[in-house]
Amino acid sequence: MQLNYIANAGVPSSSGRLISVIDPSDGQPFDELQRSNAQDIDGAVQAARQCLDAVWSKLSAAERGRLLMKLSTKVAEHADELALIEQRDCGKPTKQARADALALVRYFEFYAGACDKLHGETLPYQDGYSVFTWREPHGVTGHIIPWNYPMQIFGRSVGGALAAGNVCVVKPSEDACLSLIRVAQLAAEVGFPAGAINIVTGYGHEVGDALARHDGIDHISFTGSPTVGTLIQQVAAERHCPVTLELGGKSPQIIFADADLDAALPVVINAIVQNAGQTCSAGSRLLVDQAIYEPLLERLGKLFANLRVGPATMDLDVGPLIRQSQLQRVWDFLSDAQVASIPMVAQGQIVEEAPETGYYQAPTLLRDVPVMHRLAQEEVFGPVLAAMSFKDEDHAVELANATRFGLVAGIWTRDGARQFRMAKRVESGQVFINNYGAGGGVELPFGGVKSSGYGREKGFEALYGFTTLKTVAIRHG
Ligand code: NAD
Repeated sequence: MQLNYIANAGVPSSSGRLISVIDPSDGQPFDELQRSNAQDIDGAVQAARQCLDAVWSKLSAAERGRLLMKLSTKVAEHADELALIEQRDCGKPTKQARADALALVRYFEFYAGACDKLHGETLPYQDGYSVFTWREPHGVTGHIIPWNYPMQIFGRSVGGALAAGNVCVVKPSEDACLSLIRVAQLAAEVGFPAGAINIVTGYGHEVGDALARHDGIDHISFTGSPTVGTLIQQVAAERHCPVTLELGGKSPQIIFADADLDAALPVVINAIVQNAGQTCSAGSRLLVDQAIYEPLLERLGKLFANLRVGPATMDLDVGPLIRQSQLQRVWDFLSDAQVASIPMVAQGQIVEEAPETGYYQAPTLLRDVPVMHRLAQEEVFGPVLAAMSFKDEDHAVELANATRFGLVAGIWTRDGARQFRMAKRVESGQVFINNYGAGGGVELPFGGVKSSGYGREKGFEALYGFTTLKTVAIRHG
């Protein structure tokens, strides 16, 4: 049974209630976690505040950096263990689970080095004044994390917040939080003071809501669905608490006729099947120049048909989805596709070894998806790629921008001038040219425009979001 982790100790919830932890590969329960409540959040916030006032705010930036570096090293030593935990909890194939653990190592390493590089500026002002700015931490930051990449999202958000001088209360997803409890234990082992990192598990509408409403939380970093993001924003607005929202996407992968298809096609596939398509930055729309639409779909269809889906430990191309309701969601989209007579080009195969009780979906390539159909507008959050063709560059831009999202865009062309034009014209927080970086790049600022959210995490830019700026003007004499 898992406990909350508050002030460097395992703590049961005051509710006395538990939530079953299910293995998505076979649908069977294998552990239990605390179903926490507002009282538990209050305890965690108090522990965090005490740590901030008594210890954390007294450390120099370099000392914070050293602790983060020790944590990075410790996580690296425990990468296999963490990957195994994440694999069972989230149903991730071995390669993906391991990549997530190594990404966590890199986040802590990056933010360890960033701590003592964050500074204010001096500003020109009237004669007789010295004016400068300080970058100050918000204080106690709240982190609400989804189930699809627990370790990666913890690394980027908690790593950045700690580096900037905050202490953290974390509410992981009820569907996947085991790795984060273990990371908090490792942080205690390397010397993080009690209260710097606190983990409180439970349901979103109970404990997540309590976190967002708590007066002692000075900033909220939310990663999750647009629907819950709206709720968080509303709740935070009542007490004017700053929020960073990392929401969903319906990201386009745009392929022009002059693209290097040998390079593009494996990347196109990975961008939609990575983590079984349960990736905010999944490249879920494929926009193809009409001149190469037919031959490209033929090639891509063959590659899709060869994809294999099975239990996480088999380490195939695709693992299970997180839970039954997510599988049902994907089926609903696919049945809508059938009703709208959207042609299916190809589907991968679920292997015989996959237990019937697991949550498996074969990767599916659909073509001629009408731009306003929900398959081209809404997040499926499964391995379903919606292809459509475009006539020319203007048409490609029109299709790319025709959703409410704007998280990531991939553009494949050898034409240098077009690379710049397209990068400028697509509405997106990140643009990859001749590549697609779903999830990658610890150093690269990440976040959306439009309904994909606002604020940036990852990279040095994140530190600005995790601090507030104080302007100091001194009049001399
Ligand atoms: P979700 O919004 O249902 O849940 C996210 C987190 O919010 C969970 O911890 C959940 O318990 C909590 N929550 C739910 N209701 C809440 C409430 N009323 N108050 C406070 N907290 C609440 O999302 P999910 O299903 O866990 O994750 C999938 C979604 O996350 C997708 O839309 C995906 O695109 C998005 N996502 C975005 C990014 C990004 O960086 N942009 C990364 C990963 C996932």
